[in-house]
Amino acid sequence: MNNNKINKIICKKYRPKQEYSHFQEFIDNLPYIIMTFLGAVILLLGLGMSIWGWIASGIYIIYGIVGAFWIIIFVCPYCNYYGTRSCPCGYGQIAEKLRPKKDEDRFMEKFKKHIPVIIPLWFIPIIAGGIFIIINFYWWILVLVILFAINSFIILPLLSRKYGCAHCPQRETCPWMGRRDR
Ligand code: SF4
Repeated sequence: MNNNKINKIICKKYRPKQEYSHFQEFIDNLPYIIMTFLGAVILLLGLGMSIWGWIASGIYIIYGIVGAFWIIIFVCPYCNYYGTRSCPCGYGQIAEKLRPKKDEDRFMEKFKKHIPVIIPLWFIPIIAGGIFIIINFYWWILVLVILFAINSFIILPLLSRKYGCAHCPQRETCPWMGRRDR
């Protein structure tokens, strides 16, 4: 069948699957890495580089890593992109090495259940930074908090929606993309 015939048969919801290179996967992960780094720096500097600052920033970094693996282990096995190079951030391929494939029909349920586990990562540095600013104002903490907010609340979701999730065949059932499209 030639391409013209295929194009006539394909419905409007059809989106060709795209395969991502390792560099594209790195770009997709970059805002999350920057968020974890900036969050740790805010905690470290806000606590005056004390032992408590190192402990708090260390715990935050560990939380960021565990959060990524939480999604890989508990959400990705239910995803359409599990085990493929079509997962924009590469998690789907890691998931394949850790857990067997699960029922794709339960993706939305698992997404809604497990995403809240990582949500505090977005708010801990903002709340802690706000407290540091109130207690002892340093302009560089304010700058770091603003940079953290721009990266985490604007760049990360924008990159995710426009770059990572834009071609996903699962977007109609995904709580992240679905509601925004309607
Ligand atoms: S697209 Fe999202 S849910 Fe699917 S495998 Fe990749 S990271 Fe996991």
